[in-house]
Amino acid sequence: MSVTGSLIVISGPSGTGKGTICKSLFQRRPDMFYSVSATTRPPRAGEVDGIHYHFLGKQLFAEMVERDEFLEWAEVYDNMYGTPKIPVTEALQKGRDVLLEIDVQGALKVKSKAPWGVYIFIVPPSLQILRSRIVSRGTDSMEVIDKRMAKALGELAHLHEYNYVIINDVLEDAVSKVESIINAEKCRSHRYQLFGNADVNQPLVTENVPE
Ligand code: ADP
Ligand code: 5GP
Repeated sequence: MSVTGSLIVISGPSGTGKGTICKSLFQRRPDMFYSVSATTRPPRAGEVDGIHYHFLGKQLFAEMVERDEFLEWAEVYDNMYGTPKIPVTEALQKGRDVLLEIDVQGALKVKSKAPWGVYIFIVPPSLQILRSRIVSRGTDSMEVIDKRMAKALGELAHLHEYNYVIINDVLEDAVSKVESIINAEKCRSHRYQLFGNADVNQPLVTENVPE
């Protein structure tokens, strides 16, 4: 696949602030393509089908898995989540930067297929802060919070499989760091072509653009 957009994957344990960071990033970078995942979990208050997730029944999700329509999929806390493949590949081919916000299992699956992507691991300042953030989010029972905390420890061990690590302490600092990584990725030399016989008035290099 000839790809000109950047694939940015934001991942990390549950409650580290991935969703919050991506929401804030969207204010700064509305030009990016934010992949909408499919899930079998029911919508939470305020969530809109097709915007926050594609809310699917288990049967439909299983059919999409069968037809190989996901770039990756994973079971996360008893629900299925998956990244629809076609919108992501089309956006990349059109030269758009694509952002995936997915769990650690999913990120590692995407990395095995697209090692050229940019993999960013979000970590909380401490486990105590992680717990208090999950509690204050108010979406999980104490039993689920304990499960998430236990899983977080195992997920943190994957830190070195990512290209970048961001400690989500002050939110705006974390968002700025993600944006800096995206900007740096756009300056990578493999994205540029040098003109052979450049006219003195013409640009010396040009960004690869999709055909
Ligand atoms: P994730 O998407 O990784 O599961 P969320 O984005 O839902 O995590 O964040 C979990 C909770 O932590 C939310 O209540 C969110 O408002 C809060 N949170 C996220 N980032 C910060 C931060 N930098 N400082 C304080 N609270 C934060
Ligand atoms: P929530 O149910 O709180 O929205 O999401 C639960 C977890 O699933 C989060 O860690 C989130 O990043 C992850 N997630 C959301 N979409 C996907 C996806 O398409 N694939 C994978 N593997 N994880 C996802």
